[in-house]
Amino acid sequence: MRSLHPPILAACALLFAPTPSAAQRPANELGRIMILEYHKIDHPEGRWSRTPANFRRDLERLWEKGYRLVALNDLLDGRIDVPAGATPVVLTFDDSSPGQFRYIEKTGTVEIDPESAVGILERFAREHPDFGLKATFYVLPGADPPNRLFNQPAHAGRKLRYLVSRGFEIGNHTLWHADLARYGEETVRRQLATAQEWIQRHLPGYRPRTLALPMGNYPREIGWAVRGSVNGLSYEHHAILRVSGGAAPSPFSGGFDPLRLPRMQALESEISYWLGYFDRNLSERFVSDGDPLTVTVPKGQREAVRNALPPSLRIVERD
Ligand SMILES: [Zn+2]
Repeated sequence: MRSLHPPILAACALLFAPTPSAAQRPANELGRIMILEYHKIDHPEGRWSRTPANFRRDLERLWEKGYRLVALNDLLDGRIDVPAGATPVVLTFDDSSPGQFRYIEKTGTVEIDPESAVGILERFAREHPDFGLKATFYVLPGADPPNRLFNQPAHAGRKLRYLVSRGFEIGNHTLWHADLARYGEETVRRQLATAQEWIQRHLPGYRPRTLALPMGNYPREIGWAVRGSVNGLSYEHHAILRVSGGAAPSPFSGGFDPLRLPRMQALESEISYWLGYFDRNLSERFVSDGDPLTVTVPKGQREAVRNALPPSLRIVERD
């Protein structure tokens, strides 16, 4: 019996290419970055749900392969502070469903449910301090249950304040998940301004810097979503996130367009595909030089760096 079949072995080697070690990953800060998009953290696993166990495994896989969490706002500011050889990754959570952040009531106090996304993230960060603790929550302050601010009304404000106190970000996802393509200018602007206003009821003065488009649909004019003012309340979004599109360009590259940031849905198939893709295509993966003040690019690629870099950053070409 011929037990080994060379073409199959070759295919397997291609599919399961080992992750290059940090020392084997030369800095390339023009590489692409994954912005992962989670919806429910709940049972059963499905198109819009990741189970708690699978979410924990996602974090494990990312960590093992040298990915480290960065805050989306830091990425927008070009402030990428991860060790040399590591790759930044951004986590986003849409729709403020209960499994993302749940409190368990104990006598006189509350505890974070260890099976909710926030509980899982915090435990993982305690066990892997170098992974970081960052994510952006695109909440719905005016949605029907169960999507209104994680579905425990008595704790809604406490949760938002807790998230911000831990360095997480709150993003705009409209007041109640309005499909912005379906409405005129006044409604679009009111959805965005009112979402911010209702977030500010719990977080005075908080201004979400980024918007995740419900269903990925842009309004007829993108400018309506970028900045505006309704009844004296102004909003401004420095980035607009889509629901798909794959890995995002480096924030240092000419191809970076913060108003059309692609994301990838955090499904088993997508995550496995992209982790494998970057194992096989190391040259496309953002690899940090470990110094947040320099932008290290492969030799000859200085021209690919975008023009409007923050003035504090210096470009370095590597051999
Ligand atoms: Zn949504």
